[in-house]
Amino acid sequence: MPNSIERVLQAALAAPFYFGQILIQKTSTGGFVLSHRDDEGRNDLQTFRSTEDAIDIAKYDDAGNYRPLKTAPNLRRGWRLELATLAELKCALDYFYSGRLDVFVAWKSGQLHTTPLRQTLDRQSGMYRIAAKISDEQADRVVGDFCRSDGGCLRTILWKRDTRGTVSSTKLPSEKFDPDFDQAAARAPSSACAEATADKTTAATIPLLCQEACNLLIAECRKVVKGE
Ligand code: SF4
Repeated sequence: MPNSIERVLQAALAAPFYFGQILIQKTSTGGFVLSHRDDEGRNDLQTFRSTEDAIDIAKYDDAGNYRPLKTAPNLRRGWRLELATLAELKCALDYFYSGRLDVFVAWKSGQLHTTPLRQTLDRQSGMYRIAAKISDEQADRVVGDFCRSDGGCLRTILWKRDTRGTVSSTKLPSEKFDPDFDQAAARAPSSACAEATADKTTAATIPLLCQEACNLLIAECRKVVKGE
């Protein structure tokens, strides 16, 4: 698997590419520069040079709030991360978006297993067991609101609601389930982003894939069932 990830990265690096909200560019000296995709063209960015810096960059949003969901569209801006090797790049991307490169490689090779929401709910224990009582209508609404790309989460949903193959939410646009669609482009742009859009690089995208409901969505389902 690690070699597969490096192969995927090497192929993607033929040109700049987006991974979630990150723009990755290869330098003429063989290194890599990462930045927030909305900061392209800025020359006032704070420079970092260690893979571990990615952990701190990803921890809080621009307002200083903790980011419990790392694939939420609120990665902070104003930074530039310079890395020397492909191994460092792979490591930093995993700090930003944990496990997403592995999932992408598994999906590319046809080996990704997805789990329907009902199955994920049914295997919960303790205080989360009650979440399985959520109705289909409630689940449709919660997923539609919590997972939406414009303000919720930038992952592309690959799981279904149940084993019959019911769509995970009728409230989400069909692009939310399309790995070829750039979910970060679906965000409501801030005024600063809108200004910068005109000069953007045309970059390829590696999607952030969601193969099963995350703990935060399960917690939301629990809240709905409990009427909180
Ligand atoms: S279930 Fe997947 S798409 Fe929904 S919020 Fe969690 S990680 Fe994002």
